[in-house]
Amino acid sequence: MAGMLIAGGAGFIGSNFVRYCLRHRDEPLVVLDKLTYAGSLESLRDVLDDPRVEFVQGDIADSKGVAERLHRQRPTSVVNFAAETHVDRSIDSPRPFLDTNVVGTFVLLDEIRRYLDEADDADVASFRFLHVSTDEVYGSLGAEGSFHEEMAYQPNSPYAATKAAADHLVRAYQRTFDLPALVTNCSNNYGPYQFPEKLIPLMILNTIEARSLPIYGDGRNVRDWLYVEDHCSGIDAVLRRGRPGEKYNIGGNAEMENLAVIDAICNAVERRLPAANNPQMQQRGLDSYTALKTFVEDRKAHDRRY
Ligand code: NAD
Repeated sequence: MAGMLIAGGAGFIGSNFVRYCLRHRDEPLVVLDKLTYAGSLESLRDVLDDPRVEFVQGDIADSKGVAERLHRQRPTSVVNFAAETHVDRSIDSPRPFLDTNVVGTFVLLDEIRRYLDEADDADVASFRFLHVSTDEVYGSLGAEGSFHEEMAYQPNSPYAATKAAADHLVRAYQRTFDLPALVTNCSNNYGPYQFPEKLIPLMILNTIEARSLPIYGDGRNVRDWLYVEDHCSGIDAVLRRGRPGEKYNIGGNAEMENLAVIDAICNAVERRLPAANNPQMQQRGLDSYTALKTFVEDRKAHDRRY
């Protein structure tokens, strides 16, 4: 057995993790990704020529495809980033979240169980399935305190509910079948290659293009921000040193209200492209990026603080 299978490796965090592994680990990497609207080979363009990287288009919910891939590659670890990830889309149309986040994770677990049934004891003992999850499974925090791994799950959005269901399946497969599985729950990531429906890239693009900056509710919701490269090093540490059956929270210890994030983006864009020199701002008759801020109706069941 050799190498790592990275499901969802053409998405935001997955593609950063591929790069991280190329720098810090020495093993073949196979990226398995369905290439939904959120995934793109563009996010892997600088690494696809690397002989250690192979890309395979496929769906984690397709048992036959996953089984074939496992038997052909014979990986020593599988890391699962593949998911439907945008909370607003889960409110408008939850079904794909069930199909990928719940059924897809189940298929990975079940096919890995069959694959390990045929492996010898030493290979089973060193194998790792790491499932990447979110802090949103815990629900919303009050004004004080932080999440810890023993907290009960209280998901509030359809997205969070499907991620919680997947985490429970991982736990159950580890307990029932002794599958060497671990779960990580991280806070909000930021960094290169994020799809521009998420807060930070959306606000950067809208600012540059002088489009309004939609802010849910009063904008005082708090998120903990984690740089994607730091998240990748946390995942790597859990793969190397984590104990199967455990779950690990990964955060950046950098809480910010959404309004403060948006103000910081306005200031950063102002330094590089002053509003006074931006023709699109001039067309709109605006001289400050902060004038683009627009409060909109709050997201349903919007968690106040993570
Ligand atoms: P993303 O939306 O950028 O990428 C998801 C990737 O999964 C895409 O490449 C997509 O094509 C692929 N995919 C979707 N359905 C698939 C399927 N059925 N089979 C195979 N591939 C499929 O997501 P991301 O932001 O990189 O998040 C990765 C993981 O981290 C997710 O599990 C997400 O729940 C979790 N997470 C993300 C954040 C964050 O801030 N981005 C925070 C907490 C947890």
